[in-house]
Amino acid sequence: MSIVADYKITRTCGTCGCGRKFEEGEEFTTALFESGETFDRRDFCRSCWNEPAEAYSFWRARAAGADQKKKENPMAVWAFFESLSGDQDPQRRKLAFLLSLTLQRKRILKMTGTRRDGAREFIELEKRPDGTRYSVEVPDIRDDEMAALREEMVRLLDTAV
Ligand SMILES: [Zn+2]
Repeated sequence: MSIVADYKITRTCGTCGCGRKFEEGEEFTTALFESGETFDRRDFCRSCWNEPAEAYSFWRARAAGADQKKKENPMAVWAFFESLSGDQDPQRRKLAFLLSLTLQRKRILKMTGTRRDGAREFIELEKRPDGTRYSVEVPDIRDDEMAALREEMVRLLDTAV
């Protein structure tokens, strides 16, 4: 099965489950829910959000106007990375690695070293400024697979990765 199919995301950006469409500048919460091998994305208006225990990951976002350029949201990248970093699923470890590259570019994570464990290679990372450490496996990702993953992440997180 291709990784693109594995990570097909339900996109409902811009509207809450209650039917409310977000106004420009309105704060809302996006949450990801596991759905088999995939994730469902749901957006919540302020009065509907109650931090559901089954959410895999969630973050705050602000609605952009229709003609506005999409804003970057490092909080979205961080929140999803943090949830993925403890996940043992091989496909999700690929996502964790991909997001860790973005977080290094944004200087939120700093690479402090590498580590080998048999045939597996890991990068050691440190979060700035609090020094929390993460270890992320370097996965085998083909170039075309990488592009597809990146595209899915952009759709899922609604921000550049
Ligand atoms: Zn609502």
